[in-house]
Amino acid sequence: MALFLFLLVLLPLLVWLLVPVGITGYSLLTAYTLPKHFWAVARDRQRRRNHALEHATVHVLEERAGRPLSLSGLAEKDGFLLVGINNAEEALDAAREALRRLQGGEHRLAIHPRCGTTLVAAQGIAALTVLAFLFLMPRLFFVGVLVALVLAAWLARPVSLVLQRFVTTSTDLDHLRVVRAEVFPPLNPLALLLQQGGRIKICTAEEKRKPRQPPRPTKRYRAY
Ligand SMILES: [Zn+2]
Repeated sequence: MALFLFLLVLLPLLVWLLVPVGITGYSLLTAYTLPKHFWAVARDRQRRRNHALEHATVHVLEERAGRPLSLSGLAEKDGFLLVGINNAEEALDAAREALRRLQGGEHRLAIHPRCGTTLVAAQGIAALTVLAFLFLMPRLFFVGVLVALVLAAWLARPVSLVLQRFVTTSTDLDHLRVVRAEVFPPLNPLALLLQQGGRIKICTAEEKRKPRQPPRPTKRYRAY
């Protein structure tokens, strides 16, 4: 009985103390890691280009399927990984069509509403709101958490679209080419079950630009 009463008093107290500490810690961590992440992507032109091509490839695959697909992707320096797909030929063909269309000016394909940037945007909005309440109105901390959740749900998508457009993708793909598709096995049986498919990496490369020819020396005629 004593233990029960002890737990009855102690547990809510613990929750009351630990939840704000946990949320504040997470918010501070996110506020620190986010600018670092964006700076890393913003500086890496290759990853931004491959990120745009990854989105466009998913758009092409979804157009062909006629419905949203449960695919995810990860842009790398030398290509991008598609998770949740088995057919390498289909992925390669979609990537080539995506590149052609992006190079042809269909830049809207570079932006995808289900990009991971949306999650990052939601985390950033929530973290900044919680920290603002903590420092400006600490008594209303729990109201701040609720406001943070509402703002994150409301603003994450529009903020993500702006971030994708200006920070995490680049449509400057003039000299990019799709080289090949590499098939990777799923990480483990659970991943296979959750992803409903395997992992395929689409490798890209920069087309070699022709070196500039030095100007030909003008012929000189000797006067005899
Ligand atoms: Zn993305």
